[in-house]
Amino acid sequence: MLTQIGKYSITSSYLALIGQQPCLRIAELVWTSMALPKHRFITWLAVEDTECCICDEKVMETTMHLLVKCEWAQAIWKEVKQWTGIELQNNGIKQTLERIMLTHWKKFKEETIAATCGAILYYIWRARSWKKFKGKIVHTNEAATQIKKEIMERLQLLNSSKKTQNCRSFVQRLLCRRPNLCYQV
Ligand SMILES: [Zn+2]
Repeated sequence: MLTQIGKYSITSSYLALIGQQPCLRIAELVWTSMALPKHRFITWLAVEDTECCICDEKVMETTMHLLVKCEWAQAIWKEVKQWTGIELQNNGIKQTLERIMLTHWKKFKEETIAATCGAILYYIWRARSWKKFKGKIVHTNEAATQIKKEIMERLQLLNSSKKTQNCRSFVQRLLCRRPNLCYQV
């Protein structure tokens, strides 16, 4: 069986054979109609230190792992780097945003990059939740396509506004309007 990023995995093959993944079974036990919603929530927080569900690394699902170090997240950051031409991710989300601020890009470029980070985080979190609660695997290329699509839609919406004028070439790159820099979306 192939993992989300296309690698063969004995662990995921085994889990596919035995049925639902352990984290999914725990979720089903916590989120039952028997438990009061407020009780379910705190129970879920208490068991939150489970293993990461979107990779096969068998490591704890810390914020740093899930959003930064996880191979699934890494594939997304890499894909977006190719699209923007900018290395976004380094040693943590806070550090990434600090770096964006300190780079002194034009205001709109800075805002676009930060918004792109937000989209990345959202789709990582959504992939994790879908896997955990629905047992649904989200492929990295599917998530990356959604991230690009949503950012492009925002850019198209704001493209005629004055603040985009100072970083026109960057905007054109993201909108794939410069053929030599056009990446598949
Ligand atoms: Zn992981």
